[in-house]
Amino acid sequence: MSRVQQDVYRRLVVDSSSTYSFICMDMDTNNLVKESLESHQPGATVVPVIVSTDKTLLTQFRDRMAYPIYMTIGNIPKAIRRKPSHHAQVLIGYIPVTKLAGISNKTSRRRALANLFHACMDHALGPIRPYGETGVAMMSGDGVWRRCHPVFAVFVGDYPEQALVACTYNGRCPKCTVLPEQLGEYETFPPRVPSTAIDTFRLADSDLRRFHVVCHESGLKPVFHPFWEALPFTNIFVSITPDILHQMLQGMMKHLIRWVIRIFGAAGVDARCRVIPPNHRTMLFPKGISTLSRVTGKEHKKMCAILLGLIVDLPVPGGHDSSRILKAVRSLLDFLYLSQYQCHTSGSITQLEESLAAFHQFKEVFFDFGVRKHFKIPKLHSLSHYASSIRMFGTTDNYNTEQSERLHIDLTKNAYRATNHKDEYAQMTIWLERREKLQRHVEFINWKQQNYLPGRSWTHTGPPRARSLSPKMAWHPSSKAVSWDDLHHRYGAVEFQDALTDFLAQANNPGLSRRQELRRHAANTLIPFCAVPVFHNIKFTDGSTEIVDSVHARPEQKDTHGRIIPSRFDTALVQSGPQHGTQAPGIRGES
Ligand SMILES: [Zn+2]
Repeated sequence: MSRVQQDVYRRLVVDSSSTYSFICMDMDTNNLVKESLESHQPGATVVPVIVSTDKTLLTQFRDRMAYPIYMTIGNIPKAIRRKPSHHAQVLIGYIPVTKLAGISNKTSRRRALANLFHACMDHALGPIRPYGETGVAMMSGDGVWRRCHPVFAVFVGDYPEQALVACTYNGRCPKCTVLPEQLGEYETFPPRVPSTAIDTFRLADSDLRRFHVVCHESGLKPVFHPFWEALPFTNIFVSITPDILHQMLQGMMKHLIRWVIRIFGAAGVDARCRVIPPNHRTMLFPKGISTLSRVTGKEHKKMCAILLGLIVDLPVPGGHDSSRILKAVRSLLDFLYLSQYQCHTSGSITQLEESLAAFHQFKEVFFDFGVRKHFKIPKLHSLSHYASSIRMFGTTDNYNTEQSERLHIDLTKNAYRATNHKDEYAQMTIWLERREKLQRHVEFINWKQQNYLPGRSWTHTGPPRARSLSPKMAWHPSSKAVSWDDLHHRYGAVEFQDALTDFLAQANNPGLSRRQELRRHAANTLIPFCAVPVFHNIKFTDGSTEIVDSVHARPEQKDTHGRIIPSRFDTALVQSGPQHGTQAPGIRGES
């Protein structure tokens, strides 16, 4: 990769205090193995291979599972890689889903399943093995031929899969040699060394007894030749990356919310949930958060957004001081948000480390309140590896397990639906192959047509500004006919009739600029109706199907049980007229 391209991934910036810091966003391919390649083969382009696996249910009722392997490469900018419509992630195979019920011994069955997984992965990744060191000529999108070295760099998966890939036992860290009783300590432990592990696994060919003894001593599962053993430049322990969804949202944040509820009491926390006024992008929990079951990662994210607000100033039963709890909660929330930054500087990574250190400093408070007896939680320990992974592989959105949920729909569930559900894998792969060919053909046609377009115009993007949103209206109004009187009294829309005649006069006579003339026209405008349909809600999308915002204008109502639903009138800023350049013509406040 050339120096110019490298700048896309990593930039040197000088901040206000004149100190230098690096920005890292995408995956920096030079960081990986470039140095060792450059020493004997200058001019190499490293292609970091990112592999993810995740089991998924194919059907709701028959408990049918699929175990797909997805692959992408780190050279593709993450903005493209993350969008399913760009098809930057490909499916390279399905691992058989079997319980191997024929093997009655539990330990043997577990071992056989691990060996099966590694044998399948070895088969799927076998084609890249010979080219890691020698390289293979490939043309990049700009038409330049490069000598590309595909290197298995990142594995994305949840904790059981990380342990399966790294051949480590449940409850142990797949990245370092921390002992189970030290998991709650905030320290750096010696990393696992791949060459030592490979030496151990090679014993399987010569001395099986010794192989099992050494595996046991070094805390590794006795897997028969793991798939990464022969992959050049691969450090499997480093390639295990942070998993925000399972380690943070469904892990530490879930625990933290439970501890906080136990300390402050469910009644107090839920009462505060109920009085939160509706707000932009704030999920309301009208029944509180203590009684919810089967909470998703997205819901935990929304709870985290209000968690600190829920407990600030909330008295602790027994009159204890809550300042240390607040500090502990705040430091873990800081860690959550910092770890999800889409762009990092060396300064923000230091802040990330500091917020974790602060949590460890204040975590004792949970002992004092009796909600925790120990912190030997593997998920808590995994957070200590976040900073190094971000430095190595870029921000965490480069390797997020949430993405595989979307891939399941495109590459597994839709494929399954296209089959007759009998011997489905062969049909699924043919269906996907045909679909890929069609996509490639569509892209080829688009590319050809672009070449014939006369002089493409480039627009200067300018500084970032607020996104424009598209309104999404319901087909039918909330109220079919609301009289002028009701508009005045129930909706608070005073002088609506006058405003409407002014609007009609302006629309019919766009040339009129003087206020007096406009008033005269308005006075002559006859409105031939005495009621208007009213919409109580306007939703906004950001161009996709997802609703990102909404505005409510609803008078007081009664529900079906006769209970009063209070009125809600949101304040909205309305931009009148089109937006040109960076200067908006004017913004009018309306409510
Ligand atoms: Zn570790």
